[in-house]
Amino acid sequence: MGRRHLRATSSDEHRIIRSAHGTDRYYARWARRALRHWERFADEWNVPLFYASGVLWFASAAAGWEADSEATLRSLGIPVERLDPAAISARWPVIDPAGAAFGLFEPEAGFLMARRGVAATVAAFQRAGGAYALAAVRPGRSDGHRLLDVVDQAGRRWSAGTFVFAAGPGFRSSSPRPWATW
Ligand SMILES: Cc1cc2nc3c(=O)[nH]c(=O)nc-3n(C[C@H](O)[C@H](O)[C@H](O)COP(=O)(O)OP(=O)(O)OC[C@H]3O[C@@H](n4cnc5c(N)ncnc54)[C@H](O)[C@@H]3O)c2cc1C
Repeated sequence: MGRRHLRATSSDEHRIIRSAHGTDRYYARWARRALRHWERFADEWNVPLFYASGVLWFASAAAGWEADSEATLRSLGIPVERLDPAAISARWPVIDPAGAAFGLFEPEAGFLMARRGVAATVAAFQRAGGAYALAAVRPGRSDGHRLLDVVDQAGRRWSAGTFVFAAGPGFRSSSPRPWATW
């Protein structure tokens, strides 16, 4: 279907990028690192890719995922603010925080322009000498341990030292709506 097609999960208009992930320190650091890369790419390529709108989480209980996230982010030095419901209303009068125990605000989080980012990445790859081709392929020869080539519909063989199949995170034959589990 080609780069940045609408059914790829990475190429809708935008995606939230934030670091909160409960007690998971790895994810928090990883998201932060990815954000720095996207900011650098946006500067280098002169394409607006990231909008630091901040991300506000609503915690329904004092203890739980959001409280764990706050502790993790603070321990990693990632900016985060805890807001009581009155503070949420004062800051964002359009939001009714009824039912929220507190809000967790990540001021440096925001959203990435996903489709634009995929297109800009492909363009940068091509400028660096990479080749982009669109083809339906099936596995070709193997040396018994390693795939040596893939074969396209015209019968042409594409060989490489390493193949990466990036078929997306959610495709499971047993689940018609893979994102329902996220
Ligand atoms: C509705 C929704 C909202 C989301 N919101 C967020 C968010 O706000 N923040 C966030 O961080 N993450 C979010 N995610 C998750 C995030 O978008 C994905 O984890 C990420 O985009 C995965 O990128 P990818 O390149 O691995 O996969 P994809 O972009 O999905 O690319 C996989 C590609 O492989 C192709 N493919 C699959 N099978 C085959 C096959 N057999 N043969 C050939 N091609 C194949 C697909 O067509 C697709 O083009 C969201 C996901 C969804 C669905």
